[in-house]
Amino acid sequence: KLASLEFKTTSIVKAGGVEFGGNQAVLIAGPCAVENEDQLFKTAQAVKAAGASMLRGGAFKPRTSPYAFQGLEKEGLKILKNVSQAVEIPFVTEVTNPMDVELIADYADMLQIGARNMQNFTLLKEVGKAGKPVILKRGLAATIEEWLMAAEYILSEGNYQVVLCERGIRTYETATRNTLDLSAIPLVKQLSHLPIIADPSHGTGKRPLVTPLSRAAIAAGADGLLIEVHPDPENALSDGPQSLTFENFEDLIAQVRPVAEAIGRQL
Ligand code: PEP
Ligand code: MN
Repeated sequence: KLASLEFKTTSIVKAGGVEFGGNQAVLIAGPCAVENEDQLFKTAQAVKAAGASMLRGGAFKPRTSPYAFQGLEKEGLKILKNVSQAVEIPFVTEVTNPMDVELIADYADMLQIGARNMQNFTLLKEVGKAGKPVILKRGLAATIEEWLMAAEYILSEGNYQVVLCERGIRTYETATRNTLDLSAIPLVKQLSHLPIIADPSHGTGKRPLVTPLSRAAIAAGADGLLIEVHPDPENALSDGPQSLTFENFEDLIAQVRPVAEAIGRQL
């Protein structure tokens, strides 16, 4: 299998000048959804100043309810591009539909496949053909085997620039939004050469849990973190309860850095 350690021992995935899988743990941060240019610009400046090397923001949002904010779509992509250029930080954004891959690949430095689309095989194949680096999130109820097979769909189209992202799985526990499967991080490293990052924002759904789980994910060997940050989480159009303020994000970095250094990595 192309994702296996038998095929290859390590992978460095490069996206917009950022390297995943090297000595540096990568920090990706930004709002769940792009809401307007001011919101994204302020967030991009703040997360870059704090130490993030990639911006995130959803323009096409896969929401549980069809009545919830669905994203600014193409307008959101334009805002992402403008802000990314003005602040000089590359960005990743989600693609939900195979027909939008080309459009989004024109704008973004990196594509994201969300948990709900992990087994959208048509989308995986299109992203495999797009030749852009991609973050492949673990499905809400996907086994590690199914997740690696989903990655295989992208790799087998000739795109080796895949970063896996553990974002929590559905369990019986309702006190958290999902259960962040920390064991997936070292386990995937024993099976695959692909870099793996963690998303403690969706993994917990709760702001006070994001920093502790970020420390734990880095200690477990994650190649980076994906963190939701918003200028005003109380009024966010999506995922406010798990979004960090700028101050929270600075504190997260201060707490995670010594953990990274303790295992010989930089942050
Ligand atoms: C997101 O990153 O905003 C998102 C929708 O995540 P997930 O696909 O992990 O739910
Ligand atoms: Mn979100």
